[in-house]
Amino acid sequence: MDTPTREIYWNIQGHDLIYLFFGLAMAVFCYGLYRRIRLWKLGQPEDRSGHIIKRIWGVLKDALGQMSVMRETTPGIMHVMIFSGFVVLFIGTLLVFLQADFSIQILFGQFYLWFSLILDLFGLIFIFGILFALFRRYILRPDRLNIILDDAIILPLLLIIGVTGFLLEGLRIAVKDPQWAEWSPVGYWIAGWLNLEQAEGIHRILWWGHMALSLIFIAYIPFSKLFHVLMSPTNMYLKSFKPRGELSTIDIENSETFGVSDINEFTWKQLLDLDACTHCGRCQDQCPAYNSDKPLSPKKIILDLQRHLTKRGPELIRAKKAGTEPEPGVIAGNAVTEDEIWACTTCMACQEHCPVAIEHVQKIVDLRRSLVLMDSQFPQELNLVFKGLETNANPWNMGSASRADWLEGLNVPTAADKSDADYLWFVGCAGAFDDKARATSEAFARILNKAGVSYAVLGVDEQCCGDPARRSGNEYVFQMLAQANIEMFQAVKFKKIVTACPHCFNVLRNEYPQFGGRFEVIHHTELILELIRDGKLEIKSSGLTSASYHDSCYLGRYHDIYQAPRDIMKKITGGELKEMKRHHDKSFCCGGGGARFFMEETIGSRINHLRIQEAADAGIQCLSVACPFCLTMLQDAVKEKELDGSIKVKEIAQLVAERI
Ligand code: SF4
Ligand code: SF4
Repeated sequence: MDTPTREIYWNIQGHDLIYLFFGLAMAVFCYGLYRRIRLWKLGQPEDRSGHIIKRIWGVLKDALGQMSVMRETTPGIMHVMIFSGFVVLFIGTLLVFLQADFSIQILFGQFYLWFSLILDLFGLIFIFGILFALFRRYILRPDRLNIILDDAIILPLLLIIGVTGFLLEGLRIAVKDPQWAEWSPVGYWIAGWLNLEQAEGIHRILWWGHMALSLIFIAYIPFSKLFHVLMSPTNMYLKSFKPRGELSTIDIENSETFGVSDINEFTWKQLLDLDACTHCGRCQDQCPAYNSDKPLSPKKIILDLQRHLTKRGPELIRAKKAGTEPEPGVIAGNAVTEDEIWACTTCMACQEHCPVAIEHVQKIVDLRRSLVLMDSQFPQELNLVFKGLETNANPWNMGSASRADWLEGLNVPTAADKSDADYLWFVGCAGAFDDKARATSEAFARILNKAGVSYAVLGVDEQCCGDPARRSGNEYVFQMLAQANIEMFQAVKFKKIVTACPHCFNVLRNEYPQFGGRFEVIHHTELILELIRDGKLEIKSSGLTSASYHDSCYLGRYHDIYQAPRDIMKKITGGELKEMKRHHDKSFCCGGGGARFFMEETIGSRINHLRIQEAADAGIQCLSVACPFCLTMLQDAVKEKELDGSIKVKEIAQLVAERI
């Protein structure tokens, strides 16, 4: 047998012209890329350097390895088929060019045979992946995939490129009939069906057609959603390594504007990540606001902002060049409605499930900040919340002197009584003022006393952690509260802070360091579990059946604390714990995060109703929670849906206290 190889550019006269066309396609590609870079450069500075090894690993794992895409099996497999086929065919084409133009003899002998086989295999995978995508988009039509013109161009274009590639191979094999043709099984099979008479002429026409489409594909990338091919790995590389729950801070004293009103007030990274969106809709699928018929869809927000950037950016560039003031271009109320902005519960489900690391929540809070701090435009219910936070350091506007009233009759030491406690218990506003959450505080106090834990509370010296202020965009009030608490913490002695509220937990742990307050903070479920494991708490298991646990967003998705509450619940039930349909990182918000707890929910259905219905549908009789807001939201839902007879919502500390 002759040495297996292949004559590159067989049957193609004037193939050098392809370099000219390739140059043209690349020029269009570079122009498109340049246009987007100019738009990103409109953004404010942001540091995304450092963590180089972690960043490279992230790209290898999630972009090349497709791990983030594979978190959902069906669309994951589809994407992996298209992606892997594309990558292998791209590498194959590159090797062909290297051999043709740099005379590097690669494609011969045994390597060539395997090369042919692998390319055929991945060519098939690629085509089936595209067919799968077409079927899903146009036949199955899941709600999260809205169909745009781009889809009608891109998928057929890729399919035609793949199919013509195989036809070319078949025609070449039909004419040349190499001894090793069977190593290209698809081409070989096609060759068997072809009429040889006009094969060379058809091959020439098809070759130029195939090349033209491939070059159009390259040129089209930066002008379409195909841009994500480039931008998704870039965005993954640039992803934030800050704690997930940490919002950016504002230099209140030295800033003239606060938050984002116009598109150029986002940072360059926030603008860049708009271009990484693959339109997959996974964020929308998980969003409690979208799922309860609110106008908010995180996917739509990202794509609307992307369109707004494309439209508004050139105006801003022109004004900058001319040194003039641009016409005002406010986002809120135009590109994104205020109802969308205020519907977000900051539950982080969108970010958790976005396969390309797009950061939705900070953008939404930035838009809120501008509405609140620049325009004083916010849902009227927040008036009382802001007033309460400013004057009484709690969102209910209860007299600050009554913050310690719940301590009455309980054996709970304050820091003034006990100056060197191991744990400083940050009770939080709900735990101090809200009747339902006060029951949790009382239960937790019993647990701590029973286990002999050395602890103290701040009593009237405690102030709201600031979470509702920060999440609703009132950064000014947040910073005021944060600084007051930090000063208080620094004035007392303790080893760790413990809190029963995941919102306080997040703010104290992730956001107070922005103001110099670095403390070790734990959630009460972590401490309770530790006490059980150390034998300091003995729980009589109840044989409670049909019990489940509802993950708080700020504990689960924000801090990956999924297991501690479940382990405690298993001690209570004696081992059995049911899971609802949505749990762990897919858990469904109670509707109370992002200061939504304090706002009316007048559009669509109520999020807490959807969640409690899910528990009822799963036959849950005891639904445990580990957050005061989840507790109230879900208890209210039980009442409103008249499920009192069948389902009880209880805080884990209460369940523990009942059994020690
Ligand atoms: S944070 Fe939650 S509510 Fe807000 S957009 Fe994302 S998924 Fe929707
Ligand atoms: S933001 Fe992320 S999850 Fe949402 S559609 Fe875009 S790529 Fe998909």
